[in-house]
Amino acid sequence: MNEAPKSLNFIEHIVEDDLKDGFSKEQLRFRFPPEPNGYLHIGHASSICLNFGLGERYNAPVNLRFDDTNPAKEEKAYVDAIKRDVSWLGYQWDTECYASDYFQQLYDWAVVLIKEGKAYIDSQSSEEMAAQKGTPTENGTPSPYRNRSVEENLELFEGMKRGDFEEGTHVLRAKIDMTSSNMLMRDPIMYRILHKAHHRTNTDWCIYPMYDWTHGESDYIEQVSHSFCTLEFAMHRELYDWFLDQVLDDTKVRPKQREFARRNLSHTVVSKRKLLQLVEAGVVDSWDDPRMPTISGLRRRGYTPESIKNFAETIGIAKRDNVVDVSLLEFHVREHLNKITPRVMAVLNPLKVVITNYPEGEEEWLEAENNPGDEDAGTRKVPFSKKLYIEQEDFREEANRKFFRLKLGGEVRLKNGYIIKAESCTKDTDGNIIEVQCTYDPKSRSGSGTEESLRKVKGTLHWVSIEHAITAEVRLYDRLFVDETPDAHKDKDFMDFVNHDSLKKVTGFLEPSLKDAKVEDRFQFQRLGYFNVDADSTAEKLVFNRTVTLRDTWAKLQQKN
Ligand code: ATP
Ligand code: MG
Repeated sequence: MNEAPKSLNFIEHIVEDDLKDGFSKEQLRFRFPPEPNGYLHIGHASSICLNFGLGERYNAPVNLRFDDTNPAKEEKAYVDAIKRDVSWLGYQWDTECYASDYFQQLYDWAVVLIKEGKAYIDSQSSEEMAAQKGTPTENGTPSPYRNRSVEENLELFEGMKRGDFEEGTHVLRAKIDMTSSNMLMRDPIMYRILHKAHHRTNTDWCIYPMYDWTHGESDYIEQVSHSFCTLEFAMHRELYDWFLDQVLDDTKVRPKQREFARRNLSHTVVSKRKLLQLVEAGVVDSWDDPRMPTISGLRRRGYTPESIKNFAETIGIAKRDNVVDVSLLEFHVREHLNKITPRVMAVLNPLKVVITNYPEGEEEWLEAENNPGDEDAGTRKVPFSKKLYIEQEDFREEANRKFFRLKLGGEVRLKNGYIIKAESCTKDTDGNIIEVQCTYDPKSRSGSGTEESLRKVKGTLHWVSIEHAITAEVRLYDRLFVDETPDAHKDKDFMDFVNHDSLKKVTGFLEPSLKDAKVEDRFQFQRLGYFNVDADSTAEKLVFNRTVTLRDTWAKLQQKN
């Protein structure tokens, strides 16, 4: 099948236009710049696919840059998790970089700015400075320290670096324009004092550079040609450029910042800070809890890198912030798992079926296809015997014609097996059905070639032989939030919308072929969904996660629209 050539998104157009204008292809370089203050989430996947996708398209290097300028929130463990996740998605970075490696260079440049009269030490409180900022329509008020002498500024800045001062006593500010219509240009802070050890530079520094001062200069040091960030930085671009102007050497590449829209996913939150809150409050067990929209949570849930990349590719790159329905993500994982997973049978809500005309003590091993859509997937054997489990939902004493499952007097085919007929059922004292007595048609076995084996009955049920079944803990997940956009409510906190029934653990009865399943193995439990083996599994107990059900809610949603 010929695929239509993919049209370029607006970010790719920016690069193409630069190449047309004479920018050398050899000088293209991109970066993905996470702050190691949490785990990557599905929103980051868009940025990763964008930047690494550009790297692939132009055969250009892509740096993985840790934007590690706030030791209060950052940790080595997050660095490791981020590297693991980017690699798992299938991308290779050119250089592993850290903004903290540039602390000395940034400091030296700051000294140059002070000497040129373009930066000064402000010794006011943050409240005082905030009060002088003005409003978009009202000029700011210059700090009383704005015209400190170069000597005094240099001395204080050195003192800040040496650790002479407490946090909050001084900051270094760029001296730009207190009347600028862009509030960010009103003498932005470049450095603050933080007496905190850093996960890489330890206690070498007690002053740390701010994002704006760090980001563009890091891009410049690494000679990144195109620096793509999310829309909230659009107003920062002017400052990004101003800072670059101060250090730029004309013979080098001048990095270009451009912005694209953040991707949000429905029924969840994509912000490391908020995800951390969920972990700390114990709403989820960990950053990689299968309910989390983190890359590691999705991986543990059974998602494949391909499904996440296809999702990111489908939603593309937008100019405006928006919310993507989570069912589209589910659509993509379902589509991929449908191709790659073996089919097996498991019963999660068991109802006992006794085949009254099947000989006691006998068993037979029926041939079952592993994946009807893929001949190479081969076959396996599943045991059949007198006593079976089917799902409770698959039997009713009485039902209308639309109920294609088992009812008294009705017939169904047992997947890979025989046609059975429900003759009677037994109830407990509360009236709950606890057993169904059936007869089977011995000539109807699937694949046996007899006329009866080809006979069509309306319903096909999955089942397991009770005697042969193995048990496992099966974890069934629901959305983590009951609201579509939990963090978009002005009067309510996103935590108010947590779904407290997002995890259900049940005991599943599985066909015995699953006894050797390994952590991360993926399966389709027929009629129930896609499942994978969770890392919580032990030699004694298998644990499965339901990745997604078989029902395609995305397609339904599309039909409605
Ligand atoms: P968070 O609020 O989750 O911490 P962030 O933007 O502060 O997000 P960073 O670690 O700074 O997180 O992000 C690294 C890169 O990923 C940045 O370029 C950022 O713009 C991009 N990014 C983060 N979240 C999203 C999102 N939801 N959609 C698209 N890109 C994103
Ligand atoms: Mg951030």
